[in-house]
Amino acid sequence: MLLAEPPQSPYDLHFSLLGIPVRVHPLFWAVALLFGLSGNQKPVDMLLWVGTVFVSILVHEMGHALAARSYGWPPRITLHSFGGLASYHPTFHNTRSQILITAAGPGAGFLFAGLIIASIALAGHRVIFGWQFGLLPLRYEGFESDQLNMLIADLLYVNIFWGLINLLPVYPLDGGQISRELLALVSPADSVRQSLWLSVIAAAAVAVLAFTRLNDKYIAIFFAYLAYTSYSTLQAFGSGSGRFR
Ligand SMILES: [Zn+2]
Repeated sequence: MLLAEPPQSPYDLHFSLLGIPVRVHPLFWAVALLFGLSGNQKPVDMLLWVGTVFVSILVHEMGHALAARSYGWPPRITLHSFGGLASYHPTFHNTRSQILITAAGPGAGFLFAGLIIASIALAGHRVIFGWQFGLLPLRYEGFESDQLNMLIADLLYVNIFWGLINLLPVYPLDGGQISRELLALVSPADSVRQSLWLSVIAAAAVAVLAFTRLNDKYIAIFFAYLAYTSYSTLQAFGSGSGRFR
């Protein structure tokens, strides 16, 4: 949830994708690895997981970056310890462009997941859709290779589940930015305060739900923290500082 770019390091990886410069900070790999640790994986499974996180976050940031470039704003991408960042300098601000660029991140992930599902079907394997809260929203006839099945499961989990989580109206997730833009259409003067309140309530609700129903303490702690930071921002905002407007 780092919103500023980390400083340059000699271990940064630099490359360019579709003409967009990408920088990967070394801590990105370490944190991706930590997220995948559950104690009993083989090294190859860990490698697949880190590859999944790398490709998926890159796809997400490419969504933001390509949308920004469509407005003529040259973007650049940084992958850092807690995710990614697509930076650009907008020459104007309107609700439509802001929502489009923000939604393009999760949108790119959903599109990527759709391509994976289409590839499974094209390979002649049956895909069964369904919904079970907190679990992968679909099942498919597995492949011979356990590694391939694990790779597909990881990719779908990150691109669909993280994408949906990211759309919740909570700061500083993409959904929090979108809710602020939408609330500004209704009440321009009060939208920041309203979206912060929405963020506190939504994040607290997700934390309670994750703890009691999903039994996922990582998501519970993460959202409890986001509820707290939104509340602190709200306090700072309410005490006369108008700088968030
Ligand atoms: Zn995003």
